[in-house]
Amino acid sequence: MTVRVGVIGGGQLARMMIAPAVELGIELRVLAEDQGMSAQLAATAVGDYRDLETVREFVRDVDVVTFDHEHVPQEVLRALVAEGVQVHPGPDALQFAQDKLVMRARLAELGVPQPDWAAVHDADELQRFIDDHGGGAVVKTPRGGYDGKGVRVVRAGDEASDWFAALAEGDALLVEELVAFTRELAQQVARRPSGEIVAYPVVETVQRDGVCAEVIAPAPGAGARLTELTERIGRTIAEGVGVTGMLAVELFETDDERVLVNELAMRPHNSGHWSQDGSVTGQFEQHLRAVADLPLGRTEQRAQWSVMINILGGPAEGALEDRFARAMTAHPEAKIHTYGKAPRPGRKVGHVNVAGSDLDDVVYAARAAAAHFS
Ligand code: ADP
Repeated sequence: MTVRVGVIGGGQLARMMIAPAVELGIELRVLAEDQGMSAQLAATAVGDYRDLETVREFVRDVDVVTFDHEHVPQEVLRALVAEGVQVHPGPDALQFAQDKLVMRARLAELGVPQPDWAAVHDADELQRFIDDHGGGAVVKTPRGGYDGKGVRVVRAGDEASDWFAALAEGDALLVEELVAFTRELAQQVARRPSGEIVAYPVVETVQRDGVCAEVIAPAPGAGARLTELTERIGRTIAEGVGVTGMLAVELFETDDERVLVNELAMRPHNSGHWSQDGSVTGQFEQHLRAVADLPLGRTEQRAQWSVMINILGGPAEGALEDRFARAMTAHPEAKIHTYGKAPRPGRKVGHVNVAGSDLDDVVYAARAAAAHFS
């Protein structure tokens, strides 16, 4: 029987589920926020994902609901579950990707390593945390942040006054120690409702201006100790929060060889785009398999190294299509993925994947192909 998977959100993550869905014989339907979005090829509905009636109407003829983003309100998700709709990941898991304070509290219960943190309600509480943590800290809005928006390094309690002022009565901001990390890593796992879990190799992620710029798989220098440690963290969290589908765990690596969890994403994630061309099972296929409770695919790398570079809309002249064509001509070894989005400055409009046996060659080719867009 054909499984019908409904994706809420019409961005590039939904778009990149389309091809694997066709291959798996899954019927994909997408509730897009607007006309003309990235996933418009599969957009069977356009509407507001915060509106229960709109979502109810969309899920009427799907078997499983999943997501392109984490912003569907808990009330909407819980109403669907109460009506018997299969929602993956479910609201009980998704809350930990929706609210960073809720996440920190749960990770503490699970005994997972993370930065020192606290919930702070005002500038005085923030100042005390800063004083206790060497004169600096990172303040975060618990909900709605992405690509570094909602994250601020502060040295004094009054540097987040605007955010405190905007809080609802009784709400708090998250404050974390300012981690002197040597690099950022990401660990992905997939878990299906029946409990089966598979883990991907740990990767290094390079951020620029709060946005993921490059990913190297596996993380260079990752030996058995690090690989086992991050995989254990991924599995512990996946089981501990009951996630279904793809889980990405963003991590900091410190110079004393510790890893600390930064945040969670419960969907395909930018840190896993390399797997489309570099793994036996790409993350979009894996996500669909997991949410449809199909057997999971193997996660070994197809080549020793894979590198992913994001393409951001920028100042380059000329139509995006021309630049894609030039990059393809100059770099036939590169896999170029486009999101069908207008190239506004800083906006992710595509990415390049290159895989091979020599890391220097792979990095060079990926950067050279991506350079056609800068
Ligand atoms: P977003 O939800 O916007 O992606 P993150 O919580 O991932 O926000 O933070 C964005 C970036 O800010 C991280 O990738 C990291 O570079 C930096 N950062 C976040 N938290 C800390 C921390 N506690 N210490 C040091 N840097 C941090």
